[in-house]
Amino acid sequence: MGRIEALDGTRFDLLVIGGGIIGAGIAEAATAHGLKVALVERGDFASATSSASSKLIHGGLRYLQMGDIRLVREAHQERRALMSVVAPHLVHRLPFVFPLYDNGPHRPWFVRTGVLLYSALARAKLNGRVSEQRALRLVPQLRTEGLHSSALYADAWTNDGRLTLANIRAAADRGAAVLNYAEVTAIHADGADVLVDGETIRVQAGAIVNATGPWLDRVRRLEDPDAAPSIRLSKGVHVIADGGEDWSAAVTIPHDKVRVSFAIPWEGKLLLGTTDTLHDGEPEDARVTDDDVRTILEEAAVAVRDIGEVRASFYGLRVLPGGPGATANARRETVYTRGAYGMLSVAGGKLTTYRRIALDALEQLGVSNIDRKPRPLPGAGGLDRIDWPVELDPATRLHLLHLYGSLAPEVLAPAVDDPSLLEPIVPGRPDIRAQELYARDHEWARTDEDVYRRRTTVWLAGAEPDDAEPGSLFKPGS
Ligand SMILES: Cc1cc2nc3c(=O)[nH]c(=O)nc-3n(C[C@H](O)[C@H](O)[C@H](O)COP(=O)(O)OP(=O)(O)OC[C@H]3O[C@@H](n4cnc5c(N)ncnc54)[C@H](O)[C@@H]3O)c2cc1C
Repeated sequence: MGRIEALDGTRFDLLVIGGGIIGAGIAEAATAHGLKVALVERGDFASATSSASSKLIHGGLRYLQMGDIRLVREAHQERRALMSVVAPHLVHRLPFVFPLYDNGPHRPWFVRTGVLLYSALARAKLNGRVSEQRALRLVPQLRTEGLHSSALYADAWTNDGRLTLANIRAAADRGAAVLNYAEVTAIHADGADVLVDGETIRVQAGAIVNATGPWLDRVRRLEDPDAAPSIRLSKGVHVIADGGEDWSAAVTIPHDKVRVSFAIPWEGKLLLGTTDTLHDGEPEDARVTDDDVRTILEEAAVAVRDIGEVRASFYGLRVLPGGPGATANARRETVYTRGAYGMLSVAGGKLTTYRRIALDALEQLGVSNIDRKPRPLPGAGGLDRIDWPVELDPATRLHLLHLYGSLAPEVLAPAVDDPSLLEPIVPGRPDIRAQELYARDHEWARTDEDVYRRRTTVWLAGAEPDDAEPGSLFKPGS
């Protein structure tokens, strides 16, 4: 079926606007509860905040400091559900070393007490203290001058773009119409206008969810031009540098009593960041500045020595429920509001708790008998009995297992007849050409950037696709 026909002439129970993790999670949950769903995304799936996070599935040590024990406990529960049932191929345990330097902002007992409580909420058996030798084994580039001691706790990491895509895929497998490059341009009492491939389609829907993250208020104003601003935006920048292959833990770097930054071994590189600065303009006006990159590298250097070459940088915009106060202190809770025609807008929240947010959204929509049990996403089941159709080196096999789980053989199937598809897409990255084909044929990729930035990890090599848009997240330092 064509893209326009997928939307035209059908009355949907639910139209989800926005293909980030929140919209994707809502579509997954709604289809699991029998709803007929359409999801439309203006750019590519996960092209905004949901591929620009710190990639952590975490309880949030910071929230503990803010006294929000409930939020931390819930997030740990979600982390366990994601690691064990929902996406064990995409969400992996990661220890964190918290170095305490002589001139650091925290008293060591304060951090160790916090880490002990955090680990108790995580149901982890970590005693919160680690010797310098062990810290160095975990993080070979850890700076040890002035190191008083280190604390140790555990969270998890993921590939945020692919986690979003797995939710889109789950919804599509259950019959949802999912369209990227399809923008909502007007909201009506019985649906919305969607611009698809140059044509405006009137989509009929019983309910509408606005999950457009930084664009939330813009879409609210499509329903009610006088809608008052409800959110604030804070820009968070990350840098990708060479290194991290021999790290088996991340580093949490404290900068003042509230703020920390991270150095995270991620997909064979080092992910450094993030910043937290109020963004006053339109979402599209945000940029990574030289100052952002300099700050991140300086802050990382507090605890990490010999940082490698910078390969890329990108920004994301945090959505903070409106109100006064510094952005680093602002609570990352989710706020639900209803518009004049009944559109439900979902603001704020974390990648980690997306499932819970999606289920709460269904509750808000009046769906009854909500099943809160974790469900495996496509690729999550049968990880221990995969029948590989071709020979692969261990690194490629591990990489495909991580990105696709038990769907990896489906990705490899065309390579049985065409071994050239087993060749790397770029030198130095484990991605192979079969993934490009799969991205275009089965994962809705339409541009090179969709393939290299969000379906594979090719962009981490620092390569730039021909069709990257000016100022896109792809360009280092843009
Ligand atoms: C710097 C940073 C670091 C973070 N780190 C973490 C972390 O480590 N762990 C964690 O749990 N959380 C983290 N978060 C939070 C998490 O990333 C976000 O909560 C989450 O990605 C938000 O997803 P979303 O779907 O609401 O928004 P988005 O991913 O921004 O999706 C909204 C989508 O709506 C689309 N859209 C807009 N207008 C329209 C329209 N008219 N029609 C159709 N589509 C439209 C946009 O194109 C966009 O793709 C971080 C956030 C930031 C900014």
